[in-house]
Amino acid sequence: MHLTFLGAAGTVTGSKYLLECAGKRILLDCGLFQGFKQLRLRNWSGLPFSPADLDAVVLSHAHLDHSGYLPALVRDGFRGCIYASPASCALAGILLPDSGYLQEEEAEYANRRGFSKHSPALPLYTREDAEKALEYFSPLPFHSRTTILPGVEVTLRPAGHILGASSVEIVADGVTLVGSGDLGRQHDPVMKPPEFVRHADYLLLESTYGNREHPQQAPEDLLAEVINRTVARHGITVIPSFAVERAQELMYYLYRLKRAGKIPHQLPVYLNSPMASDVTELYHQFRDSHRLSDEDCMGMCQVAQIVRTVDESKRLNELREPAVIIAASGMATGGRVLHHLKAFAPNPRNTLLFSGFQAGGTRGALIVAGAKTVRIHGQEVPINAEVVAMEHLSAHADSNEIMQWLSGFAAPPRHTYIVHGEPDAADALRRRISVEKHWPVSVAEQAERVTLD
Ligand SMILES: [Zn+2]
Repeated sequence: MHLTFLGAAGTVTGSKYLLECAGKRILLDCGLFQGFKQLRLRNWSGLPFSPADLDAVVLSHAHLDHSGYLPALVRDGFRGCIYASPASCALAGILLPDSGYLQEEEAEYANRRGFSKHSPALPLYTREDAEKALEYFSPLPFHSRTTILPGVEVTLRPAGHILGASSVEIVADGVTLVGSGDLGRQHDPVMKPPEFVRHADYLLLESTYGNREHPQQAPEDLLAEVINRTVARHGITVIPSFAVERAQELMYYLYRLKRAGKIPHQLPVYLNSPMASDVTELYHQFRDSHRLSDEDCMGMCQVAQIVRTVDESKRLNELREPAVIIAASGMATGGRVLHHLKAFAPNPRNTLLFSGFQAGGTRGALIVAGAKTVRIHGQEVPINAEVVAMEHLSAHADSNEIMQWLSGFAAPPRHTYIVHGEPDAADALRRRISVEKHWPVSVAEQAERVTLD
């Protein structure tokens, strides 16, 4: 078995691992690079193999940094199956077409406003490409050991994190490779904890928070503090949010805070993301994947007014009374939240509440780091609003929780490759595993090819 790291090596985005085993080629995850421009440019440089020569894809979960390159893969000739858990298939059915739509919209916007250096600016892929890619999805239930190709068996296990997220076990050529996938938290209020894996010969381990522990303060309390402070200033709280999981978790907290009288009951909450509201529906459908009761699920769904049309979205920018606006994308790399940032970031009465990991090079990372202005749609926007970075709501295990997950292994893997982390985080986790567990471990490098036997 050979393994080549084609993404999420030395960075958190672009997850793509090529496996050559049993005479076949399998791609584990097929994500987009996001963040720094030099990373995003990698999305355009193609793959070091022809997609037509690939036999199958196995997807750990539907987040775009793991799935977002699939439409380009299928457009460029891939004709095999894309295996993923049923909830991941359903989520991808929402996320991928939206990603295609956003890319078309951005290219069109750039062309209209003439601020792209490329003329004409082209989308990486279209909504139609994404819809075609969906035809190749094949659901793989959790815990069912499935022969996906002659001599290649795959088992998915719940990894917490988001609906459908999986750790992936691939057995071929007598070798068991496990990809942790993105690992969720032990005590997340919405998602169940990641399931332990007992055995791996080789392990790919995510390290997003490999150098950090999440704060102990209850996220609900901080959320209430920030919102009440902003209401007292007569301001608007804008929350850039991932449409999947984070938006729902925020809504769940807001529902609980309102019910407990910890934030004003009348305070309007807007969910400005048709996609996030579609995702919220999936929480009803995949009850087994999360911890919410029917009542909580209903409460979560009803706490926010759903904003569907572009006109309604624009009208939110004219709000003058306190409100909470949740809008995608979570790292302010695109989507409707950009228009809200233009409208609300210049006013010190308002608050920008970042609710998740901000990859280096994104507008979110710049604002959290204290940038006085950021560039949006070719224009410098002053950031005078209060900025709060709330790491409490992470969907990722922190360093201690990753170590706890590793304690589930009955014996050390022959080698552990650290992936999906910025260099500091990946190296900190490497050191911790080496010092505390004495396991053979290294940080994977982009384009590195290793032999697993
Ligand atoms: Zn993820």
